[in-house]
Parts: sequence; structure tokens; C-alpha cells
Amino acid sequence: MSADSMLALNTYDPASAAVADPTIRGLIERRQRIFGAAVPLFYEDPVHITRAEGVWLYDHEGRAYLDAYNNVPSVGHCHPRVVDAVARQAAQLNTHTRYLSEVVYAYAERLLATFPEALSNLLFTSSGTESVDLALRMARYHTGGAGFIVTRFAYHGHSTAVAEITPAFGPGVPLGVHVRTVPAPPQGRSGEDVSQAFAAGIEQAIADLRRHGIRFAGAIFDSIFSSDGLYADPPGFLRAAAETVRRHGGVYIADEVQPGFGRTGAGMWGFSRHGITPDLVVMGKPMGNGMPIAAVVARPELMASFSERSGYFNTFGGNTVCCAAASAVLDVLRDERLIERSAQVGQYLKDGFKGLQRADARIGDVRGAGLYLGVEIVDQAGAPDTREALRLVNGLRQRRILVSTCAAAGNVLKIRPPLPFSTEHCDLLLDAAEQLLAAG
Ligand code: PMP
Repeated sequence: MSADSMLALNTYDPASAAVADPTIRGLIERRQRIFGAAVPLFYEDPVHITRAEGVWLYDHEGRAYLDAYNNVPSVGHCHPRVVDAVARQAAQLNTHTRYLSEVVYAYAERLLATFPEALSNLLFTSSGTESVDLALRMARYHTGGAGFIVTRFAYHGHSTAVAEITPAFGPGVPLGVHVRTVPAPPQGRSGEDVSQAFAAGIEQAIADLRRHGIRFAGAIFDSIFSSDGLYADPPGFLRAAAETVRRHGGVYIADEVQPGFGRTGAGMWGFSRHGITPDLVVMGKPMGNGMPIAAVVARPELMASFSERSGYFNTFGGNTVCCAAASAVLDVLRDERLIERSAQVGQYLKDGFKGLQRADARIGDVRGAGLYLGVEIVDQAGAPDTREALRLVNGLRQRRILVSTCAAAGNVLKIRPPLPFSTEHCDLLLDAAEQLLAAG
């Protein structure tokens, strides 16, 4: 794995002297024998989690860790309503989509009802990667083009086609010749500038594809730019990007794998903060609170172009148990008002980090939306300070609070807890961060 890969961020180094526990050392050795070196492990002193509940993870000695990182168990680890839905459905029926099923259609209709009317079809998959891969194929069939645009440090997944549009794997995994990257939305400028500068990059990339004889198929952007370092503001800046893509005949694909299902606190979908309706939307991670369910939501024109060319069957995609889990996730989001909570608690956490920023120049920026924050760590010259970011991440881990990093330089703290996170949990995180800053 290249040292410049996103997967190399916040990884355990086998030379690390930080691991004192013999149980952990034994597990690390076994893991390396099984997986080889490609599968990274978090922290200098890795964590062995054996159970979880809500926003808490527990290790083999029963010690509690505050989870400020995991967005897959979005409605809370082992939420009883999701667990119950899975158990009941598993005891009754779990099969694929080639038989008629009330459970599957009822869920699909509920999910589609959360989208603008124009997005009225969907296909189920089992992972974000599969959804992105399918969306690329749909965009290609619809436009007859092959060229795609992504941001400079985007992560979209690991299949062959998707790795070719994933610069975050680093230089060891070449981008496709049909792929162009654009800089992430610029920071520190006025709203109009962010929007125009980002759209101008797209315009240039489309021109470059054309010069190389590659017909433009579309652009795919994570609506909160997680891997690039988290860019959420100002709301609306993606409008010019979507207009530019469409003006040139491309398909706009919103990657909602990270911001979707209420994370940003502004409705279900990250793209709605920007006032756009994409042509295709891909989602996954929090959809089944840990059960492997993902989807592509499409405008019917795109689904029609796809169906003319190809059939679709996916053994596990949209299986009955995963749909039951995903339906319970929607129930919990609604009944526990988790989207509103994400907005309120996220704002509290952001204000808290902004307070720390006023007192400490090492915090260069605090950004994000809802319960998805990026805290940028910089040196005295304002340049990315990866070492300091890692000191904070590992220091928090020693205080049993889990976060990680993002951005190409790995200098942005990535804070993305399960949505039942409360202001009391925020205080635990903020107090620990303040103590670590004071000690450093
Ligand atoms: N898109 C984004 C924005 C992601 O963050 C990820 C996973 N990190 C994916 C797609 C791929 O999803 P999966 O790991 O479920 O294949």
C-alpha cells in the first residue's frame, strides 16, 4: 500500500512500541498472518472491541470507549429495534429479489419517498462500491460517454472500475485514462467564489477530456467531500457544479455513502443542503445500521437506458433481512428525531471546537455539517500538521475516545459519531481534546 493512500492514514505501524497488552499483540500477529499487509488497522495501540451499545464500544477487558467515529451503526450500535427486525425476518424468510416481496417493496417505497420526485427508481446492492460501480455503468449507457470527473482525493470504492475513479488509493493504483480530477472546493473564500471556482475546475476537466477524444459521461462527488477533508459550506455551492456537468451532457452522481441518512442534520441527503437534484444517487454504509445493504437511486430515464442494455440481478442486494433492518433504521431515525439531533448536537460540537480554535492556532479550521466534523490541524506556518493530528487521535484513543483522520495530508480530525451522540458526549470529547492540546 502506498504511503500516500487514504488507507495509510492513522494506521498501526508494526514497529510501534505502544502495544503493551499481550492479548492485543497476539491478535495483531494473527491478523497479519491472515490478511497480509493490505488491510490497515487503526491507532498506534489498536483496539479490540468485543461488544457495543449506543455510542459506546467495549473491549475484551470490559473498558468503555466513546465512539466518535463510526457512521455505519448510525442509529446506535446494536439498536434493539434493528436487532429485533433482523432476528424476526431471519427467522421468517431471507431471499433474493426474484420473488415478489411486500417487505422489500414497502422499504423501497419508503426510501424513495425521502427523495425529490424526479428520483423515482432504485436498485439494491450490498455495498457502496457496488452502487458506485452500477451508477458508472448507468451513466455510461445513458450518455454513450466514458469520461468521469472526481475530486483530487476522493474515495468511491474498490472494484476495478471504481478504483480507477478513486485517487485516494494513492499513486500505486493508477486512475483510468478516462478519469480527470478537480481540486476539492476551495476554502476561506466567499460563497460565490467556492461555487464558481469548483465549477471552473469541472469545466476545465471536461475540456481536457474532449481534447483527448474522450466523451464526457459524468461527475461523481461525495456531497460532503469526506475523503478530501470535509467541505460542506456554503450550502448551495454544488449547484453550479451540477449545472456545469449537465450543460455538457453529463450525468451528476451524488455519492451519499457518507453524508446520507441524516448525518448532515439538514434532511436525509447531503445534496439537499445544496438545493440540487442529482441524476443518480449512491448510498450504503448507515443504510442498514451495519447490515450490508446499499442502493442506487435513479431518474427513470437513466433506469430506462440501463434496462435497454442490461438486466440486473444481485444475489444479496435487497435481500429480505437487510430490507427489514433498513426499514427499522428509518423508523428509528423518525421516532428518535435523529436528524434534528444531528443538527443540534453537531452545532454544539462545532461551536465547542471553534472555541478551542480561538484559543489555539494549531486548529486551522473547523468545518462540516451536523454530526460530521473535520478539525484541521496546522503548524505555525498554517501548513498541514499530520504528526500533531496523529498525536491528538492517538491521545484521544488512550483516553478511550475514538476518532480518526481524513484529507490527503491526514491532518484533519474526522469526527463522525453514531447519531444518538449527546451534548454530554461532546463535552467528554471536547474536554479530552483541550487537555491534549494543553499537554502538547
Ligand atoms: N463512497 C464513499 C464516499 C465512501 O466513503 C465509501 C467507503 N468508504 C464508498 C463509496 C465505498 O463503500 P463500501 O466500502 O461500502 O464499498
